[in-house]
Amino acid sequence: MKNLISIIGGGISGLSTAIALKNQGFKVKIYEKDDLFSSLDSGVVLGANAIQALTELGVKEEVMKHGFSTDRCTILSETGKELTELYHHSNDYPTYTSIHRHDFIRILSKHIQLDEISFHENLTDFMYSPDGIELYFENGKQVATKYMIGSDGLHSNIRHQIEPMKKLRFAGYTCWRGIVHDCPDHFEKRFTETWGAKGRFGIIPLSGNQLYWYALKNCTRNDPELSSWTTKELLHNFSTYHDPIPQLIERTSDQDILHHDIYDLAPLTQFTYEHVILIGDAAHAATPDLGQGACQAIEDAYYLSKSLESENSLQKAFKKFEERRIARTRKITHHSRILGKVAQIDNPILCSIRNKMLSITPSAIHEQKLRSVFTLEEIRR
Ligand SMILES: Cc1cc2nc3c(=O)[nH]c(=O)nc-3n(C[C@H](O)[C@H](O)[C@H](O)COP(=O)(O)OP(=O)(O)OC[C@H]3O[C@@H](n4cnc5c(N)ncnc54)[C@H](O)[C@@H]3O)c2cc1C
Repeated sequence: MKNLISIIGGGISGLSTAIALKNQGFKVKIYEKDDLFSSLDSGVVLGANAIQALTELGVKEEVMKHGFSTDRCTILSETGKELTELYHHSNDYPTYTSIHRHDFIRILSKHIQLDEISFHENLTDFMYSPDGIELYFENGKQVATKYMIGSDGLHSNIRHQIEPMKKLRFAGYTCWRGIVHDCPDHFEKRFTETWGAKGRFGIIPLSGNQLYWYALKNCTRNDPELSSWTTKELLHNFSTYHDPIPQLIERTSDQDILHHDIYDLAPLTQFTYEHVILIGDAAHAATPDLGQGACQAIEDAYYLSKSLESENSLQKAFKKFEERRIARTRKITHHSRILGKVAQIDNPILCSIRNKMLSITPSAIHEQKLRSVFTLEEIRR
């Protein structure tokens, strides 16, 4: 058995990385501040790149069994007119696989033994020591470890301590999410995103009769008016949008709606700091516009395991990982931010010009752009 590695955060990146390290023979311990199933009651879309990485981790089959796969996302106008299709042709992996976050976390956590994860362990501080790192938890616990992986998410405390000047960037819009669990059969199972002057609305089928939806609207940071919106205001805002958008909002109860302002992280220039490495949103949070945040977290796990295969020391492997990941994640963060700006145009005239341009651009051009997003680097030709 190789070194013990401490992983802070048991979200998608922490769990995927733990599986990847265990597959390489490392002993891991995950410290999670909440419970396992405190993950959000929402869906997540996994791109072909994430499914390929999950294949390598050995969890693809179960994800496919509990998910819903499709090869395209159709962009619509607010009246329901098709503007374009975003697809990526691959014989091996579906372009998009959507799954409930609870199901995904449960699938990943099945590969982790009970003694490999501790809950209610909130890391508040850490210090470098001659032998590695001392970890300090809110409950008074103190742990000595050789290596620490910071997978503590967007608001990473670890990143804040190492890179205090790096700030989160508000994207200029806010997001509501909901799941309708009992959709009637006549609701089409199609992944669509509707772009209009009153905001963007995404509909994503999950397994069974469930549809996951999200709505995005421009605003100021912590906008007091939008923060208090319930289904009533959302319904009013999207009442002129095509079916089944109003019906989906109507079928969601207020207490089941999640609401968050959207942020990303200004790109870091390094992910490794001696015996500490940052992964997932802690290292490279992107806006959700490309649907790649969790996918990149899963890619991190895959590339970390590839780096461990080729290097004879953990520190060298961490550096190799950083070399492989900095440029790729920077590009994803950038493209996601730009896509968000275009998709969030809310001036009605500019909106119709954008929609016209979208509808006349051949889908093959979008496909070419998406190919680099949905393909893992090793197999890109
Ligand atoms: C609206 C929205 C929609 C999105 N949709 C998609 C999508 O469809 N596809 C996609 O690929 N990505 C999507 N994302 C991005 C995706 O959710 C994130 O990139 C992903 O969850 C990051 O995983 P993570 O494990 O790095 O962080 P997190 O999921 O945030 O997990 C971090 C974990 O660390 C724990 N933690 C935090 N601090 C501490 C501490 N001090 N001590 C111990 N534990 C700690 C937390 O409790 C949490 O469990 C979306 C994001 C948003 C905001």
